Amino acid sequence: MNILEIKDLKKSYRDLDVIKGLNFAVPAGSIFGFVGINGSGKTTTMKMALGLLSIDEGEITICGERAEYGKTIKDVGYLPDVPEYYPYMKPMEYLTLCGEIAGMSKERINKRGKELLDLVGLKSKRKIGGFSRGMKQRLGIAQALLNEPKLLICDEPTSALDPMGRKEILDILTAVKGQTTVIFSTHILSDVERICDRVVFLHDGIAVLDGLVSDIKKQKTDSYLIEFAENEKAKQCALIFTEAELSQNTVVIKKADGQNIIKAMAENGLVPVKFELLEPTLEDLFIGAIM
Ligand code: ADP
Repeated sequence: MNILEIKDLKKSYRDLDVIKGLNFAVPAGSIFGFVGINGSGKTTTMKMALGLLSIDEGEITICGERAEYGKTIKDVGYLPDVPEYYPYMKPMEYLTLCGEIAGMSKERINKRGKELLDLVGLKSKRKIGGFSRGMKQRLGIAQALLNEPKLLICDEPTSALDPMGRKEILDILTAVKGQTTVIFSTHILSDVERICDRVVFLHDGIAVLDGLVSDIKKQKTDSYLIEFAENEKAKQCALIFTEAELSQNTVVIKKADGQNIIKAMAENGLVPVKFELLEPTLEDLFIGAIM
């Protein structure tokens, strides 16, 4: 079952066409990476899904309900890129306020609030005003999960954080897998690589690559790493192939057929100490898809 579906979506700001016919679906239970460079339209798309922006053409369906400007879909939790808080409040006070606005009972707010502050590692009794960016993001996740949404949408949750803060957020998002489907937008491909099972690459207003991370990586495997005992042999090897990158005793050959490489090395009397099929990184794939 798909928790979110986007069909033929279009959106312009005056004469700037940002989304030009976007299609993709997010299956329930996934951690889904919504990837694109800055300014590619990730926030615009998420705001349309959340009913915060009007849709020009096409449609977005969440949990079977069609997204419309001004309509809140109750099964969705949202973490904006920079969550805003009342600085004088403490975390539990803030969650209580949010729960009351959402019409939750006192008992449920208390129970959920404690569980979630535990999940995001915020037992601090300090006021939010003194929190680091990472702590504010963690509180934002707790708030977004308060009402047990079926879908959690996070806008660039790790972009402004240091490596430790990023790791904490990624660990939390991994921990909520199973409780809710997670979509998070980012331009940091290593974050996607670490936790996402599915991904869509947004470029020039459309999806240029979309699917299971494991499938995408398999399709595009065509680079080999060859290591020799001596630098001289590696040099000779690099001269045989056009797409070869030499580094001391190692050669990486891109866009090649493994059998052809082995044949050419045998013909030239080159015997490697290591021959390895390289798995492409998401960065390689993204750059390949947008070039
Ligand atoms: P991303 O989230 O991928 O960084 P955005 O959705 O924020 O991208 O922006 C996509 C494009 O739309 C950018 O060129 C941005 O400048 C433009 N844009 C975003 N919001 C507005 C707006 N309210 N008015 C005009 N242009 C906008």
